[in-house]
Amino acid sequence: MAGKITVGADGVLTVPDEPIIPFIEGDGIGVDIWPAARLVLDAAAARHGRRVEWTEVLAGQRAYNETGEWLPKATIDSFDEHLIGIKGPLTTPVGGGFRSLNVALRQVLDLYVCLRPVRWLQGVPSPVRAPELVDIVIFRENTEDIYAGLEVEAMTPEADRLRELLADAFGWEIRPDSGIGIKPISKTGSQRLQRAALNYALDRGRKRVHWVHKGNIMKFTEGAFQKWGYELVREEFDDRAVAWDDCGGDPGEKILVQDTIADIAFQQVLTRPNEFDVIATMNLNGDYLSDALAAQVGGIGIAPGANANYETGHGIFEATHGTAPKYAGQDKVNPSSMVLSGMLMFEHIGWRDAADDITRALEATIADRIVTYDFARQMNDAKEVACSEFAQAIVDRI
Ligand code: NAD
Repeated sequence: MAGKITVGADGVLTVPDEPIIPFIEGDGIGVDIWPAARLVLDAAAARHGRRVEWTEVLAGQRAYNETGEWLPKATIDSFDEHLIGIKGPLTTPVGGGFRSLNVALRQVLDLYVCLRPVRWLQGVPSPVRAPELVDIVIFRENTEDIYAGLEVEAMTPEADRLRELLADAFGWEIRPDSGIGIKPISKTGSQRLQRAALNYALDRGRKRVHWVHKGNIMKFTEGAFQKWGYELVREEFDDRAVAWDDCGGDPGEKILVQDTIADIAFQQVLTRPNEFDVIATMNLNGDYLSDALAAQVGGIGIAPGANANYETGHGIFEATHGTAPKYAGQDKVNPSSMVLSGMLMFEHIGWRDAADDITRALEATIADRIVTYDFARQMNDAKEVACSEFAQAIVDRI
């Protein structure tokens, strides 16, 4: 019988064999990629005697058309109650009172980790020579930084007031025609992200964790992130992880924790990607780095993502691209990002066998040179198929 996923005080999920999982189909190409992904997810679950009881919730354009609200309370309540959910891309309402529905969902449920595993799958066209060297998991902080939405527009009374306040209190002279944003980075926010990254690394047998930051310039925000990260390692993970400076780069059996300045990190993930394993970083760096890395292994059409809170047990898994409106309803685009987000969700709820089947079958499909248009145009002698046919080809290989 279908039941709810629950969470213990330790943050560990209890998952029935038939969990109820809410989904948002999504706008634009959501109508193409969600049904395709669902077909694959159902086949992989069934192979291991399990079943998901999907329950639809609304958000985005469709929610607005049907209920007059972009993000109905019933949708938030459902994600809150069922803990784990999955979503397609959503239209960002213009002048609808939200900066972005994705940001709103993350804030309401305090989904402080944006998890983006980036790994190359055999056969996927890539712009780099050795994409197989990329196997990096990014933990991006989701609630702070200059993305917190604390900004005032240039040449408004609010900006004038803030400038005067800063001049009075700190003697800071800011040019009168400036917009101003605030960059909060807290010890609490930093360490809960870093703790999640370290726990993930330990759980998955990963060997290294990097703090990526720009602390040489932004000393009290990004520099503090680095400092708090090392404090955390020494205070809470001493028996399982060690900072580079405390072991001279020789961690023994422990996880090696080091840090890299963000600009250099961008170079090194391209030139020496195999030196990176798990990366924890702040919101803005993480946003750029996830997409840059995704490009190395085939682009956003195949990059999965999740937003999670490891204490409350909440997690929303999502395709990382947008609604690509010009392709909507054409059964044409690549559903891999959605499929792999579902794979990540299965992994997260402990269905690693089903998750592995999905990755294996997706790889086998691409290895057989059966692909959607976006890959077909980058490959020789590939067979271009529709979004739904691609999903069926994956199912055939599960
Ligand atoms: P987009 O990601 O929707 O599309 C950009 C281009 O990427 C498309 O034209 C297409 O060529 C390609 N593309 C995207 N997904 C693909 C797929 N699955 N297969 C093959 N090709 C694919 O970005 P955009 O056009 O800047 O944004 C469109 C809308 O999506 C906006 O309303 C934006 O706010 C929203 N958006 C939503 C999310 C989200 O819900 N997570 C993320 C980004 C953008």
